[in-house]
Amino acid sequence: MNKNLTFFRKLPIPMEIKEQYPVPAECAKAREEQLAEMEKIFTGKSDRFLIVIGPCSADSEAPVLDYISRLRRLQERVADKIMLVPRVYTGKPRTTGEGYKGMLHQPVSYEKADLLKGLLSVRSLFIKTMTETGFAPADEMLYPENYRYLSDCLGYVSVGARSTEDQHHRLTASGIDCPVGMKNPTSGDISVMMNSIKAAQSSHMFLYRGWEVQSHGNPLAHAILRGYVDKQGKSHPNYHYEDLYSLYETYAASGLKNPAVIIDTNHANSAKKPLEQPRIAKEILYSTRYSPDIRSIVKGLMIESYIEDGSQAISECETYGKSITDPCLGWEKTERLVLDLADKL
Ligand code: PEP
Ligand code: MN
Repeated sequence: MNKNLTFFRKLPIPMEIKEQYPVPAECAKAREEQLAEMEKIFTGKSDRFLIVIGPCSADSEAPVLDYISRLRRLQERVADKIMLVPRVYTGKPRTTGEGYKGMLHQPVSYEKADLLKGLLSVRSLFIKTMTETGFAPADEMLYPENYRYLSDCLGYVSVGARSTEDQHHRLTASGIDCPVGMKNPTSGDISVMMNSIKAAQSSHMFLYRGWEVQSHGNPLAHAILRGYVDKQGKSHPNYHYEDLYSLYETYAASGLKNPAVIIDTNHANSAKKPLEQPRIAKEILYSTRYSPDIRSIVKGLMIESYIEDGSQAISECETYGKSITDPCLGWEKTERLVLDLADKL
């Protein structure tokens, strides 16, 4: 008997939850169309710019759906140049394990963990995102074992900076049927990110949810640059021209399929100063215009954005649409930025 682990309750398996809360047929079709368009972007058949955008954490259904409905209206205005995919991030990595772990753990942010309720709230939010806004959302795959609960809803997956070196994440990414971005690790070592892309693009046999499975490799696995932190804990960017050109050369020497990078404009790239994101985004666009080689690999951006600027502490009277994890760019500035980028593209 293991005294350090209490088995609380057995959860339904992904197939049962999917049958109970199915994705409506018209949403499944819209997701297929979104994935086909994204494939064109990652394989270079379309030069639309992809922007994965939304709050650091999807903390509460009403403001998140309100935010994504605004994205839908904005998407219509920039459709010829830009493809938007909403961030609906429901599992948050915590550096020390303390703090809010996302909707999956805490469906009500200021209450204690309830994982079954969390799982159902996440699936319900994903399906509402699809039915009410037509977007298949992006999420971080923090827990590979949970991926199958949402696999029919996801439009984009990222593997976070703290997970990118982990074998189980890499092997699971190799069996995902949508684009997966592998972030550079917090240390900034680009070889770790490149190795994780290679692993995710390859086929593997492995153990998954009690099965022996074979993945077929994900040709759309790609890089995400998110800045890095040094020995003293200081943030450093990796979105400048030299970083992007160096990644172009690394890709060229690697033999990897579909060389591609998404640049995260927040986290260590902005030193979590969210209002710097418009400046960073425009510098990246400038680099892509200066160098066709850089343009050939830069497929888009990841932006942390919500209704209000900044962030707040968790409480029972939170400000509507203000982040309770990393500070975000508010809606007005976000809208201006996306319209500005569309003008410049
Ligand atoms: C995030 O996208 O909110 C996040 C936690 O990113 P990273 O893994 O780069 O820290
Ligand atoms: Mn974040």
